Amino acid sequence: QADERESLYLVSEFASKYFQNTLHKTNQGKAIGLSYFKERGFTEETIKKYHLGYSLDEWQAFTDEALKQGYNIDYLEKAGVTIVKEEKRFDRFKGRVMFPIRSMSGRVLGFGGRILTNDKKAAKYLNSPESDIYHKSKVLYGIFHAKQSIAKEDNCYLVEGYTDVIQFHQTGIKNVVSSSGTALTSDQIRLINRLTKNITVLFDGDAAGIRASLRGIDLILEQGMNVKICTFPNGEDPDSFAKQNTLEELTLYLEEKAQDFIQFKASMLFEDSKNDPIKKADTVRDIVNSISKIPDRIKREIYIQECSKIMQISEEVLFSTLAQSSKKDL
Ligand code: ATP
Ligand code: MN
Ligand code: MN
Ligand code: MN
Repeated sequence: QADERESLYLVSEFASKYFQNTLHKTNQGKAIGLSYFKERGFTEETIKKYHLGYSLDEWQAFTDEALKQGYNIDYLEKAGVTIVKEEKRFDRFKGRVMFPIRSMSGRVLGFGGRILTNDKKAAKYLNSPESDIYHKSKVLYGIFHAKQSIAKEDNCYLVEGYTDVIQFHQTGIKNVVSSSGTALTSDQIRLINRLTKNITVLFDGDAAGIRASLRGIDLILEQGMNVKICTFPNGEDPDSFAKQNTLEELTLYLEEKAQDFIQFKASMLFEDSKNDPIKKADTVRDIVNSISKIPDRIKREIYIQECSKIMQISEEVLFSTLAQSSKKDL
């Protein structure tokens, strides 16, 4: 079993090197992949730092090379880089730019590959399938480059996508990781929890992004961590926003706009329910339910007081709702 995992690590490392080499050394890689990354504003240094790559737009160029170098087809398939169908073999990431996903210690576990055409039928991002080394609910993209700075800054920015992580890093904010499209999980939060108790969630300025951040809040609170939320203007995501701003502007924006979760959730939900008593009651229960996730009793009390002010509901009512909420959980 350990040997098998080691083989998957070796295959993945080889694939990452191959895709990097293809990006920098082949005509197609340079013309298509490298120019794509440069158009996105990534510098040569950034592209190298994140080991970004390119998979040729050919059916089995990568797989042929890997076999020639002696890698076993079973491991290529298990690592998810080759698809085996009957007698045929296909490169999974054909024609995509490649983002290797690395562990806390820097080992390649899997890949995200982005399509470059506007083909609406194909998925924009394709990820490696689950394997003995890649469990998507347990990894955070960017953690290898972010871990030191998360500990040093005592805060972690959490974003949605690969390019958000990379653009922030390049702009100068290094304590940033991404759940990469999956709904945030407790295992991912635990990885951060080892480094800091403070998370600032930065999701895209669209409905999907906001919904995702609301869902993630309770999981973070359950682990006794502090959570702030910062959204971006409509249509922007951390990548596009960072690209248009200097480090000073970005830092200022994050400092000014980051709200404590209770303010965020309350103002968010309160806005569309204040004239509707039934909706308002749901909103209050929703927020109190979040507060009930906080393990620390003193913090819970402080949040109830704050919630009472924002929502204009007496603390007594909120405390009794809280008591009910906690009972439900037991
Ligand atoms: P880009 O800026 O390259 O268009 P993005 O990172 O802003 O991409 P979003 O659409 O905001 O992409 O999605 C956020 C993240 O969700 C992506 O980085 C990727 O990890 C994941 N994702 C997006 N679309 C898909 C998809 N079709 N299949 C799997 N994962 C996806
Ligand atoms: Mn989005
Ligand atoms: Mn996005
Ligand atoms: Mn984007």
